[in-house]
Amino acid sequence: MSEVRTRIAPSPTGDPHVGTAYIALFNMCFARQQGGKFILRIEDTDQARSTPESEQEILDSLRWLHLDWDEGPDKGGDFGPYRQSERGEIYKEHANKLVDSGDAFYCFCTQERLDNLRKEQQENKEQPGYDGHCQALTPEQVKDNLDRNVPNVIRMHIPRRGSCVVNDMLRGEIEIDWHQVDMQILMKSDGMPTYHLANVVDDHLMGITHVIRGEEWINSAPKHLKLYEYFGWEPPVLIHMPLLRNTDKSKLSKRKNPTSIGYYKKMGYLSEAVVNFLGLMGWSMPSGPDEEGEELFSVQDMIDNFDIQRVSLGGPVFDTEKLDWLNGRYLREVLSDEEFIQRFGEWAFNPETTHQIVPLIKQRVERFSDVAPLAGFYFSGMPDIKTTDFEHKSLSQEDSVKILQFIAWAVEILPEWHRDRLEKLLMDMADQMDIKIRDFLSPVFIAIAGSSVSTSVIDSIAVIGKDITRARLRHAIGILGGVSKKGAKKLESEYRELDLK
Ligand code: GLU
Repeated sequence: MSEVRTRIAPSPTGDPHVGTAYIALFNMCFARQQGGKFILRIEDTDQARSTPESEQEILDSLRWLHLDWDEGPDKGGDFGPYRQSERGEIYKEHANKLVDSGDAFYCFCTQERLDNLRKEQQENKEQPGYDGHCQALTPEQVKDNLDRNVPNVIRMHIPRRGSCVVNDMLRGEIEIDWHQVDMQILMKSDGMPTYHLANVVDDHLMGITHVIRGEEWINSAPKHLKLYEYFGWEPPVLIHMPLLRNTDKSKLSKRKNPTSIGYYKKMGYLSEAVVNFLGLMGWSMPSGPDEEGEELFSVQDMIDNFDIQRVSLGGPVFDTEKLDWLNGRYLREVLSDEEFIQRFGEWAFNPETTHQIVPLIKQRVERFSDVAPLAGFYFSGMPDIKTTDFEHKSLSQEDSVKILQFIAWAVEILPEWHRDRLEKLLMDMADQMDIKIRDFLSPVFIAIAGSSVSTSVIDSIAVIGKDITRARLRHAIGILGGVSKKGAKKLESEYRELDLK
């Protein structure tokens, strides 16, 4: 049998997600256990949403977790380039092949026609999807449209009858009716491929033998299998991992749990504890006959004992209390005092952090003994605050919640995390809300530093970073009673009125 090759294929469109690390871990363990290779590919075909910063953060986070890949955009390899935006010609060529073989077709339908079609289907309670209108065009009509540069996409043919059987190594056979599958767009009007085409072409050309990914992709499998058939390629083995869940069993979401890997790093979790925790998501160490499987294990232990069949499909719960417990065990049982000192020092007093903090506090201290009380909040988790801390002569509690919530939303989409950019954002916001900047910043001081006497709050936000800022804002909103669903709607519409650049 050929060498096992697995991959993680993140899209660089946001913060590095714990779900990406979870899937990467299982791909890596599977490949390593089989003596194969683990590849990292960047799926950045969504040009509007992909950013180089996000790509960098994803790579840095996976590296922090020691989820090391053998080939990737930063490392090269025999199957590159490993960034889809650099593989445009390959997708074009493959899409054209499918058009030539009659397995795909040009579609010239306007957005207006597609919108009307969807409306009609909704009204008639029909399965939404493309109706095949352009399949009926003659070669002459197609040529004529292309000659006249009529905007177009390329879609794949999908059988209208029967069903597709997806064979999943964990789930067995999954049958999906073809009439539920849309005639997927393969090439968009901007000349970029969609995820489906690029993913299949790359998995094949990169020699991927096993695709281990989240269960949210099961419904895409019929399209992918059809594409393999059209190209005459053997499909990889498919394995769909169970989705991570919040403690209430809903799909893991950042509204209920921090999902950015950066948060866990900044909060002072050990990378090996985080990886161990992710390894417990749907998997467990094999144990002796009457012993429970050990919950504390290293990646190497996991690789040595790895068996994908041990993945259980019941939704694994991303329970941060359990992570706290596990991390505590690492600190107490695994790290020697020496190692503790070293790791804590690297976390708190690394040059990147200290160089940012010292200039801010130097002006305000007279003795070293003043440093810890003043700078402690840079190294803490959530500040110990209560509702009364937010009392203010001209701001009501609702005003404070509104300010904190608006900032939480605004920083979410801030393209760069820089002091001046943050300052402008907060000034603009205060201005448009018609609140004096001093008053406006008052609840922010409490939320971020836990006190109204601290270093400049804008500088503080810049230093503690997006993940901790977001977590502290959320924490403070919670202390102030939170925002109800109805309240959030109202706030959202007020927020949309703001003109923030
Ligand atoms: N780019 C996809 C994602 O962001 C990859 C899905 C897959 O593994 O096929 O999750």
